[in-house]
Amino acid sequence: MSDPSTGVSRAWVEVDEGALRRNLRRVRDAAGASALVPMLKANAYGLGMGPVLEMVRRETSSDELWAIGVAAVAEGEELRRLGWEGRVVVFSPAPPGEFDRAARAGLTLALSDLGAVQRWADAARGAGRLLAFHTEIDTGMGRAGFAAADAAEWGPRVARAAADLLEWEGCFTHFHSADEPAPEPTDEQQRLFLRALGELPPGPARRVVHSANSAAAVRRAGFGGDVVRPGIFLYGGSAGPGAVPEAVASLRARIALVREVEPGTTCGYGATYTARRRERWGTLAIGYGDGLPRGLSPAGGEALVRGRRVPMIGRISMDVTVVDLTDLPEAVEAGEVATLIGRDGGETIKVDEVASRVGTIAYEVLTGLGTRLPRVYLPPDGTRNP
Ligand SMILES: *Cc1c(COP(=O)(O)O)cnc(C)c1O
Repeated sequence: MSDPSTGVSRAWVEVDEGALRRNLRRVRDAAGASALVPMLKANAYGLGMGPVLEMVRRETSSDELWAIGVAAVAEGEELRRLGWEGRVVVFSPAPPGEFDRAARAGLTLALSDLGAVQRWADAARGAGRLLAFHTEIDTGMGRAGFAAADAAEWGPRVARAAADLLEWEGCFTHFHSADEPAPEPTDEQQRLFLRALGELPPGPARRVVHSANSAAAVRRAGFGGDVVRPGIFLYGGSAGPGAVPEAVASLRARIALVREVEPGTTCGYGATYTARRRERWGTLAIGYGDGLPRGLSPAGGEALVRGRRVPMIGRISMDVTVVDLTDLPEAVEAGEVATLIGRDGGETIKVDEVASRVGTIAYEVLTGLGTRLPRVYLPPDGTRNP
């Protein structure tokens, strides 16, 4: 296993820029004329906001890159620190105390009720300049948004509250099931969304209309709207049947210790595993404190060593994980690299495989990758960063 960490790290995350950019290209091709709002929230799904921003910029023209999407005001501020001067849309509802900060950073807010529109207008008055917003329309997500059914009622009130202080830049909704096999729930949400749009006052509210996450952008041609908002697909997580991207992130850890153990030797907290024969165990320098899900080992979790799958044994600790190397044809030495997610030789463990073993989704596995893991960026030609 090659070692792009140059041997300094106990464990690390590799990010393949070429793969991320090819995934972005697939979204762009599928989205047709729609411009892009890549979602870089949660540290670009754990892979590093700054480097991912640069990858996205290298892959897109300024016409194609309509905005960067985040979830939190602090993430928008981080984009400003990184030098991004373009549009930033904060998609999750911002707490009332953060509106002035959002105004100072020149962010665009997604607003979900009249109180928020008024607060944003106050912030605009304080800042002495026009501030932009999008209204979220709730078509079934239920976590935010104006009710789709009442658009004729709230639309004019939003327009009045915005008056000369705010720029009502557009409307969006968010799909709850676009990654599932059946198209009907998404069709129904889109229908409610379009009907609500039709009841809004004509003009700016309908200027930029959008609904597609990764799954809808890749799987539902024509659902693009003016912009699409891809996240998980860029980062290598499946967006449903027929929407499987290239793997982007690999999780590697060094084998810190190799030991021969006698039958009867137990392993890990709770001593849940006992050697039944003379076995060779490898201690990997990674644990749940790095974001490796603790439930993985009892769920049949594996690592790749020298291109072969080896089983995890015992419970995963905060800092280490033990694998059974006994059945490998050759003796493995301390210092070699094990792969928890990604490819080694002819074998691959996908992030979706890890997620489904522990009953979760690739999003949670990726965003859970810890701060103790350096991110190593592989440039598009496969060679290492200088
Ligand atoms: C996170 C998010 C997305 C991206 O969703 P993916 O499933 O990761 O593509 C799109 N829109 C909104 C509003 C989001 O919060």
